[in-house]
Amino acid sequence: MPGFEVFGEEEKKEIMDVLDTGILFRYEFAEQRKDIYKVLEFEKKFAEYCGTGYAQAVTSGTAALKVAMAALGVGPGDEVITQGFTFVATWEAILDIGAVPVFTEVDETLNMDPADLEKKITDKTRCIIPVHMLGAQARIGEIVKIAKHHNIAVLEDTAQAAGGRINGQHLGTFGNCGTFSFDSVKTMTTGEGGMVITADEKMWRNMSEYHDHGHDHAVNPGGRGGEGRSFVGFNYRMMELQGAIGLAQLAKLDAMIVAQKEHKKQLREAASAIPGVKFRTLVDEDGDTATFFAFIMESSEQCSKVNAILVEEGVGAINFSENSWHFYPKWEHLLEGSTLAAGGWPFAEPGGKRRVIYDPQALPQSADIMSRTLIYPVSIKMSEEQRTKICNGLAKAAAKI
Ligand SMILES: *Cc1c(COP(=O)(O)O)cnc(C)c1O
Repeated sequence: MPGFEVFGEEEKKEIMDVLDTGILFRYEFAEQRKDIYKVLEFEKKFAEYCGTGYAQAVTSGTAALKVAMAALGVGPGDEVITQGFTFVATWEAILDIGAVPVFTEVDETLNMDPADLEKKITDKTRCIIPVHMLGAQARIGEIVKIAKHHNIAVLEDTAQAAGGRINGQHLGTFGNCGTFSFDSVKTMTTGEGGMVITADEKMWRNMSEYHDHGHDHAVNPGGRGGEGRSFVGFNYRMMELQGAIGLAQLAKLDAMIVAQKEHKKQLREAASAIPGVKFRTLVDEDGDTATFFAFIMESSEQCSKVNAILVEEGVGAINFSENSWHFYPKWEHLLEGSTLAAGGWPFAEPGGKRRVIYDPQALPQSADIMSRTLIYPVSIKMSEEQRTKICNGLAKAAAKI
């Protein structure tokens, strides 16, 4: 899955352009920078690649979520709905902006269940964040339709699915905006970094100002420090070295996905011999980024047996119901409301009253699906030997089950 596997001469060349000027900063220094604006160029190319109008680069995928929510007007008093199977970053950002995260079930897409979304909408819901987990699509068409009916914004957390599509349309362009992460394990990486894309010029301008202390950037490229600020901001600026790496990685993204698809196909063929096995539902198989391969057993008992055999063969798969970073019942700090803040924020209001209680049993459908699902990460340079070893393990499991 990770873009670090293909880090090479192209990235180094882009980085050298920046080092040759010594200007590591995206704004200002017009005279010294010899017209090199890597972050700005990366934003333009990323928006163009996704087929949308605007992109705002930031420091991380978590910052992207926060900046996007700020621009959508989310704050204390609001509820933001996301899914109970995601990385902790999604709800950390919701808590950090002052809103309350509300969790939906996932279905066999391993993403937000639209039927459960309907049930979780209240008059406090300000934003819906479906996540395109493990490289593949949420049922984004249905989700956007529900959101429009209730006049609620949709932010697509596309951190794990850069380059993913549905019928050719890029993930991240179905809702009001889409966010991306370029951290160490994502399909394309800039070391650390993130992006928000949108077709809405006003939203993009607000994100541009908010992510840089309220500077208006009216004169672009590089313009900053004009008179007057429209609203309070923060600092989530990406640096030029990251923009440079992003340009080289973006140019490789489609080829990375092609390689992953080849490898995933081989694993899928081997797993299909397991009696009763099903595969994760893909909204559009062609638009899958194939960063993970997920297969679903008939029962949790069968799933444990299969994985025990795989472990014996040295190729144990991931079961996310046992993983503590991505699934709701395993987030003990969320469930217990653990925080450094003496007053208990963001889990308690000033004065100490709990804002919300989370129940580890609240998502039975997700728990059932997770307990029956096994997952392999698929990488770009996965060797023939590695793939054969997994396929042999799957064949053993199929024969013994
Ligand atoms: C990685 C990830 C993020 C956060 O990205 P960072 O760049 O690490 O901050 C957000 N959401 C999901 C689903 C992720 O996988």
